Amino acid sequence: MQYFPDAKAVVRALRPEEPVILNRPHAAARAARFFVEKFPGKSLYAVKANPSPELLQILWDNGVTHYDVASIAEVRLVRTTLPQATLCFMHPVKSPGAIREAYHKHSVKTFSLDSVEELEKIVDACRDEDGNAATDLRLCIRLRVSSEHAALSLAAKFGCDLTEAPALLQQTRQHCDWLGVCFHVGSQAMSPFAYVQAIDRVRAAIAEASVVIDMIDVGGGFPSVYPGMEPPPLEDYFKIIHQHFYALPIAYNAELWCEPGRALSAEYSSLVVKVEKRRGEELYINDGAYGALFDAAHVDWKFPVRALEDDLIKPEMDFAFYGPTCDDADYMPGPFALPEDIQAGDYIEIGMLGAYGAAMKTDFNGFGAAERIIVQDEPMASLYDGSRVRPEADNVVSLR
Ligand SMILES: *Cc1c(COP(=O)(O)O)cnc(C)c1O
Repeated sequence: MQYFPDAKAVVRALRPEEPVILNRPHAAARAARFFVEKFPGKSLYAVKANPSPELLQILWDNGVTHYDVASIAEVRLVRTTLPQATLCFMHPVKSPGAIREAYHKHSVKTFSLDSVEELEKIVDACRDEDGNAATDLRLCIRLRVSSEHAALSLAAKFGCDLTEAPALLQQTRQHCDWLGVCFHVGSQAMSPFAYVQAIDRVRAAIAEASVVIDMIDVGGGFPSVYPGMEPPPLEDYFKIIHQHFYALPIAYNAELWCEPGRALSAEYSSLVVKVEKRRGEELYINDGAYGALFDAAHVDWKFPVRALEDDLIKPEMDFAFYGPTCDDADYMPGPFALPEDIQAGDYIEIGMLGAYGAAMKTDFNGFGAAERIIVQDEPMASLYDGSRVRPEADNVVSLR
């Protein structure tokens, strides 16, 4: 792995023909320490946001011990990278083979579910050779909650509703000594109130079921900073979650968990792209909708950009991007503000791509390649560098 001070130094030294992913280990380490020190419970990293083994190792080295995995490939990857980590299989619809391998081969004990069918599947897949049911399962019921405060919905696909939850909780309790409730308020939840509404729904479900609950998992959804999306400090989220967790009718020693993906990984990576062609207000760049800019194309996500040439002197104007593939859909509307005199051959850095960016690259049409380089400068925006401190909130966390 090569080290450079920043993106400009990379471009000056290499003039790279392919996109380059710039990783900032210090930024991921800082995010991990923030959650480990300040979230009033356990923080699981949601691996799908960015499964890079280097990132997994950084999070582990900075105190993240539990990992939310959703496929058998993620189970294998994290088990190989971090042999001591605790893995939690939090996809509510799994194949029997995946459950079997996770439980018997990789000692995964924690599984989420949202239906009786999935409960039966898990119980069956975890039996021993003599057909005895497992006695060490830790099961977690996924409740459907609103995504109204989130930039990306996760409300439609998974989760049982309030009419089904009490019976499923009671039935699941008979198969495990440790029962949790989890939910996901949607990704990039812009208000802490999203979690209050969801915890209220948890309260209704467990009051109706009257079973002992050992864990509440408030899921992911913790935001990062993007152009036009400036969330309140994460302390506000942690505080309100803690207060409402405490007021729940649950076991006195019940645990509180969260599963951040985006918040732990967004600041880790940015991307250097080359302008291949300019057509008016459109720049043809060498990464796009089938690469790290999936969200910029498909859900119109805004990412910060900056030009990397020193000889651009004109004021900024708005551009749209075309990606490298031959598909019209490989288009990022932006708008991305860049100097008016930018042209083919120039380089651009696109920031905040550590979550659901670097992880989205495909080889479609032959455009998957990207070198990875470590840089030492700050991410283009940060929730953790102290720049967003409010008088009443201490948002700074020190590096060890
Ligand atoms: C995607 C996902 C997460 C992470 O969500 P973020 O919005 O990135 O924090 C956490 N838990 C589950 C079950 C998920 O599917």
